[in-house]
Amino acid sequence: MSTVPSLLTMLTELIGTPSVSCTAPHLDQSNLGVIHKLEAWLSDLGFSTEIMPLPGHEGKANLIATLGSGPGGLVLSGHTDTVPYNAERWNTDPFKLTEKDNRFYGLGSCDMKGFIAIAIEAAKHFTDQPLQQPLIILATADEESSMDGARALAEAGYPKARYAVIGEPTGLKPIHMHKGMMMEGIKITGKAGHSSDPSLGNNALEAMHSVLGELISFRQELQQNYQNSAFQVTVPTLNLGCIHGGDNPNRICGSCDLEYDLRPLPGMDIDTLREGINQRLQPVAERFGVTINNQRLFPEILPFQNDKQSELVRCAEQLTGHTASTVAFGTEAPFLQALGMDTIVMGPGSINQAHQPDEYLAMDQIRPTVDILRQLIGKYCL
Ligand SMILES: [Zn+2]
Repeated sequence: MSTVPSLLTMLTELIGTPSVSCTAPHLDQSNLGVIHKLEAWLSDLGFSTEIMPLPGHEGKANLIATLGSGPGGLVLSGHTDTVPYNAERWNTDPFKLTEKDNRFYGLGSCDMKGFIAIAIEAAKHFTDQPLQQPLIILATADEESSMDGARALAEAGYPKARYAVIGEPTGLKPIHMHKGMMMEGIKITGKAGHSSDPSLGNNALEAMHSVLGELISFRQELQQNYQNSAFQVTVPTLNLGCIHGGDNPNRICGSCDLEYDLRPLPGMDIDTLREGINQRLQPVAERFGVTINNQRLFPEILPFQNDKQSELVRCAEQLTGHTASTVAFGTEAPFLQALGMDTIVMGPGSINQAHQPDEYLAMDQIRPTVDILRQLIGKYCL
């Protein structure tokens, strides 16, 4: 007799188990509390489970839970972590699932512990019939900070199935494409000296002036070469975000830092972009006698694109009545796609409620999600 709790209890327990991931170490938490709950429920349902610790990240792990076996099958994937929160700006306790106005409030309700609970609810339906192809429920770590959970899966080379659905909040619309994101920093180191004699130093701020020009002309070149009308902003973007340098008007500026973000379209290669930028920076460094370092501030998110005619995209379009479209946020989709799976992003709730106080999942999203997931499991695993 299975002791797997009701959907409401699963939601309550997952929301009640903090699992913030953050690049700031003092806010970062383990996700093992969530992983162990999921592991217990899924093994009770008959899934075979594997907890995959993240190398180099103590207290972090992915969970791979598999029911049935075979070369095809379906992955339902969600991340176990949440973003940090500002408790004082919430009207409810972020860790207490609160039912109000036909909504479930709580940190992670739509982004995206809710989806994982719903996926398990959908799976309950299939535990007493033998599956012809595997159903894999995948719960990842650190999506909100580094995507190192998904990265570890891509490196390990599994799980492998034919299809994958990542249940990020899209209002149950299938998503087949998103941009990537690179957050980078340029550090220019020159030589400080008395302002009265320019020959006494190498001015990092003047070098930065040229670097800014190079980046803006690089952006023009990218935007001329790449467009995709499926996106609301049809071109790759490069935003100059902040700049810090120098100390006093009467000193030659010894160092200057810039941070920028670049959002490539699907089909643009991150390494090629970084190389293109470095090629433009090198001559500036030589001209000004400074050193210029271009480094990533965070691990990049790859752009994602699945064929609009793929089996899963078309099936999801049919089930939901929505044409596949694009979103402006990054996901783990490129990592699952790299494992060879026909991948879409589609889940309950709205990204508008994610990453902010009073995050909620509208209750009327739950039943349709269970239904759609059951149909997908029935189609690809039975
Ligand atoms: Zn998310």
